[in-house]
Amino acid sequence: MKNVLVTGGAGFIGSNFIKYLLNINNDCSIVNLDLLTYAGNLNNLRDVEDNPRYIFVKGDIRDHELVNELFTKHKIDTVVNFAAESHVDRSITEPEIFLTTNIIGTQTLLDVAKSYWKIHLNDKYDREYRFGVKFLQVSTDEVYGALGKTGMFTETTPLAPNSPYSASKASADMIVRAYHETFGMPVNITRCSNNYGPYQFPEKLIPLMINNCKQDKKLPVYGDGMQIRDWLHVSDHCSAIYTVLCKGKNGEIYNVGGNNEKANIEIVKLIIDTIGKQENLISYVKDRPGHDRRYAIDNTKITTQLGWKPAYSFEQGMKETIQWYSEHANWMEHITSGAYLNYYENMYEDS
Ligand code: NAD
Repeated sequence: MKNVLVTGGAGFIGSNFIKYLLNINNDCSIVNLDLLTYAGNLNNLRDVEDNPRYIFVKGDIRDHELVNELFTKHKIDTVVNFAAESHVDRSITEPEIFLTTNIIGTQTLLDVAKSYWKIHLNDKYDREYRFGVKFLQVSTDEVYGALGKTGMFTETTPLAPNSPYSASKASADMIVRAYHETFGMPVNITRCSNNYGPYQFPEKLIPLMINNCKQDKKLPVYGDGMQIRDWLHVSDHCSAIYTVLCKGKNGEIYNVGGNNEKANIEIVKLIIDTIGKQENLISYVKDRPGHDRRYAIDNTKITTQLGWKPAYSFEQGMKETIQWYSEHANWMEHITSGAYLNYYENMYEDS
């Protein structure tokens, strides 16, 4: 792992991962390829932009020529693919971009990585690429669909995605798997539960509720608020990805989760309580179509086989996260004053 291509590194998890990797591994350099869609924000990376081991390139993972150029120029040996359209609500109103970015984008990256992998197979004296290209696909537990009141997703749970977002992520996973089976490429897939922490775009539950709560705005809760998710601090997701890059067995899938199931309404009430506001801010709104009721991750494989475990307790992580958003009001204001306003009004105008 010398020259790492991180895609989607200006988004929430990607930007946290870049900082994590620069900090934990002094030998590697990072190229961050990001299209800077509405979700990409270079303000997430201000503290590393002058680091000589970090380069930002604005561009599209679907651009074969550009991706190929980056592989050649920077001698890429590792790809961590975060780039995606990531918001379920948006996938219901605009599914097409989810399919092109999440599926075709992943296939484009794989194709370029495969051509460098082939150089290795064809030329055993080529020292630069003698290890080939490792490809890690950052996926989600949503590919498994929804659970009833009991049970957990394991890596062998059949895929049953319910939203255009999760269907596109499941398709990408299948293609990554196929490139391993067909071409022998060294790939891994991580399937993580819901992340929270600093730099998350405020269309997602936790930063949305913190932001609204601080401004005494209504807190729009879908349906009865009893949808259950497993929550993991973003830095624990980053350490899991790094663990898989270092120790993951080629071709394997690893679930990542913190054994931390919470109903959405519990989280909203925790935020209200921590900020010191009243529950009358809660506004129940029409549920999202196809809204999965419960996700829960069985993390036995990554904990027992690779020795990873989360460092954060949910209580501590949430306390720090609420504090972070309070201390970074400018970061939030910069985002929420732009196109986000129109989006927000369209989504929650009836609330
Ligand atoms: P995000 O929406 O915050 O960031 C996505 C980034 O991808 C943005 O910076 C955006 O500009 C970039 N991007 C979009 N299309 C692109 C393209 N065509 N080319 C290059 N860059 C492009 O998303 P996130 O929450 O950081 O999620 C990152 C990844 O992790 C996604 O693949 C998502 O499916 C997965 N994931 C997220 C969670 C979660 O809770 N957020 C949980 C599990 C898995």
